[in-house]
Amino acid sequence: MANIWQKDINNHRDILFILHDQLNLQVFPPSILQRRPLIVLVESFAYASFLAHHQMKLAFIWSCQRHFALELEQQGYDVLTLSTKGWHSEGIKQIMTDYSHLSLFYMEPNEWQTREQMKELKSLFPDRVFSFSNNFFLTDVKQYVSKINKNYRLESFYRDLRKQTGYLMAEGKPIGGKWNYDKDNRKALPKKITIPAVTKFTPDTITETVITEIKANFAHHFGKLDQFPWAVNRQQALQLAREFMIERLPYFGAYEDAIKTDEPFLFHSVLSPYLNNGLLLPAELCQMAIESYKNGQAPLNSVEGFIRQIIGWREYIRVYYEAMMPDVRESNHFGFTLNLPQLFWDGKTELKCLADAIKNVIELGYSHHIQRLMVLSNFSNLTMTNPIELSHWFWLAYIDAYEWVELPNVLGMSTYADGGILASKPYISGGNYIHKMSNCCSQCHYDVKQKTGKNACPFNYLYWHFIDRYRQDFKENGRVSLMVQMFDKKTDSEKEEIARSARDFIEKIPRYSSVLPQQDISKANF
Ligand code: SF4
Repeated sequence: MANIWQKDINNHRDILFILHDQLNLQVFPPSILQRRPLIVLVESFAYASFLAHHQMKLAFIWSCQRHFALELEQQGYDVLTLSTKGWHSEGIKQIMTDYSHLSLFYMEPNEWQTREQMKELKSLFPDRVFSFSNNFFLTDVKQYVSKINKNYRLESFYRDLRKQTGYLMAEGKPIGGKWNYDKDNRKALPKKITIPAVTKFTPDTITETVITEIKANFAHHFGKLDQFPWAVNRQQALQLAREFMIERLPYFGAYEDAIKTDEPFLFHSVLSPYLNNGLLLPAELCQMAIESYKNGQAPLNSVEGFIRQIIGWREYIRVYYEAMMPDVRESNHFGFTLNLPQLFWDGKTELKCLADAIKNVIELGYSHHIQRLMVLSNFSNLTMTNPIELSHWFWLAYIDAYEWVELPNVLGMSTYADGGILASKPYISGGNYIHKMSNCCSQCHYDVKQKTGKNACPFNYLYWHFIDRYRQDFKENGRVSLMVQMFDKKTDSEKEEIARSARDFIEKIPRYSSVLPQQDISKANF
């Protein structure tokens, strides 16, 4: 094998290194592709195991990468897939050291650590290693990085991007007269509604081989790998995108905040794994959604909501990541030190909304955004869990998670760990919100109507406990300041009961961290 590689490598002057989240030649510079470089892909065991990444996620990454390699070969490229115990850059370094005639080209990695490793490699071979900008986004990140602060949040960015792209715009104004249709997008699911199934793909021999390898090497990692339903190449991903536009986009907007037991996808696109590894591109998905609107297949509130997720939220958090790294990694505004509740690892809990969300993550490496935000992050906040741990958990547990996307969502948005640069408040709610948006409460051990005591929904008293304890962060904060006033109107005995119920509950949560040192709960201050 080594000889064959040697011959192939000697036939080339240039190599192009493509990362596992850059699987689309459409956005690579034609000037580099015209040189017909040897394309190098790397399966890095160090990357796979620096966190206990979900087994499903690893199988997805490697299977997509191997299918991509096959397609490149079918297009006439010479492809070399390296498997290394080290990081990606270590595999590349070996080639650059052994073959001094080669020049290396690579697209800037999205994730910080890989980018730093590649920078180091570049410094070792300054005349032979060349990088070019990452083209998997619509935004020129440099244009916006300096603007990120409390006065330039998502809404301003989103409007700028709508104007820049012209999506859903007519004569410089938003189509329909409004920028945002969120108010139409908070409906609970009707009892009788048909939820279309998302196509599941049967693993082919490449995926089967990868699954066997992942089980052999990473069986101790998070999650299950019993069923593998995901698309693994661009053709399959496009099929899913078309299916979404026809079958689910029409209802996506109205029900995007709904939760239902045993329905992990509802009307969500479930396209983020493919968007974040490059199989699908943001512009083509926006164009498909706009086409659905123009054809009368999907209403404006759905299409605008979907486009906002892509050109608003996704682009914005990437700019935030670039602006805030690396210091943001240590953000912990409330100073929470408690380890992640054990239930995040095993799903064992009597809180039905949490059990459902974690079950989806364990089985699929996926749950939709409202479960991520209003169930998992909400619970983590209310139980005073270290947000950095939560951030790591999202990174390792989700099939669509890379640091650039999960970190801003967790440390910026859901936990308010950055102190309010990205969001105006932490995402917390009592049980009523979950009750309104889901069917979980009727199947739960706890009673969502009870406010305190051993049968009460824990979200209820934990919410008030949080509002009282961190009132400084809410007092000056518009609508949320009302909650502080409401708490203050409670009787002393109600306040005492809330504090006691919250303390009892938080004290009894079994906690376990696979990423940070264990916390001695007796020393925790709550
Ligand atoms: Fe979740 Fe509370 Fe409802 Fe149970 S009662 S499902 S804990 S919100």
